[in-house]
Amino acid sequence: MTQAQRMYLVLLGVPGAGKGTQARLLEEALGIPQISTGDLFRYNLKNQTELGLLAKSYMDRGDLVPDEVTIRMVEERLARPDCARGAIFDGFPRNLTQAVALDRLTAAGGGIHKAPLVHLEDEEAMRRITGRRVCRTCGAVYHVEFNPPKSPGVCDLDGGELYQRDDDKPETVRNRLYVYYKQTSPLVGYYFAKGLLVQVDGAQPIETVQAQLLELLGVKTPLQG
Ligand code: ADP
Ligand code: ADP
Repeated sequence: MTQAQRMYLVLLGVPGAGKGTQARLLEEALGIPQISTGDLFRYNLKNQTELGLLAKSYMDRGDLVPDEVTIRMVEERLARPDCARGAIFDGFPRNLTQAVALDRLTAAGGGIHKAPLVHLEDEEAMRRITGRRVCRTCGAVYHVEFNPPKSPGVCDLDGGELYQRDDDKPETVRNRLYVYYKQTSPLVGYYFAKGLLVQVDGAQPIETVQAQLLELLGVKTPLQG
């Protein structure tokens, strides 16, 4: 496949909007990998790498990890062979410096294809985050009420233990929302100005959001024939 055929997507939305959930479903539907900077930091934290230890203090406060570190991590991830046909970015970029860096990193492959904004009110995002549970081994995301696993506390996919992220406590979530509005929300205008922004109502059921995203991306689902 040539570089010109790559598809790079950027999922935007407040913490808890459903970006990770949708990115994982898009990964299956489109056959291109999800790149979640949050997941990559958590993986490094779990394995106690230098990068993980550096990221920890920022994540604990709900602040952004420095751009230089984050951008280098994404650059390395993008160089892996599974990104040969593109990637779905979830939680990156989170400010204008990162967005400009991503334009540079994807330029040879045709740049960003679309930037879907998953829209959700803060109150609902809070509700989602407080009930969020994540698989310790594969990172799959559940919600105790809205998207429960078949058996409580256990991942449907690999039987891993489900846990609540340290930064999903209400005090940290409030700062993450603040950081979102201050640093990340300008990206909505950034991608709109480039004609790449599409929007979906994230308050709908997971399957509906997914179907609408696929439609906006021009991908036919079996239901649509
Ligand atoms: P959520 O989508 O719920 O906000 P993430 O898993 O995307 O959570 O991010 C968790 C934390 O990881 C952030 O609060 C931040 O500290 C760090 N992080 C993730 N992505 C980035 C990024 N692109 N730049 C800087 N820090 C990031
Ligand atoms: P983000 O990556 O934007 O922070 P997640 O994908 O982790 O968001 O979703 C946050 C929480 O909300 C998770 O517990 C997830 O299971 C749940 N969730 C995601 N999408 C929906 C939806 N459409 N309706 C109800 N709950 C949802």
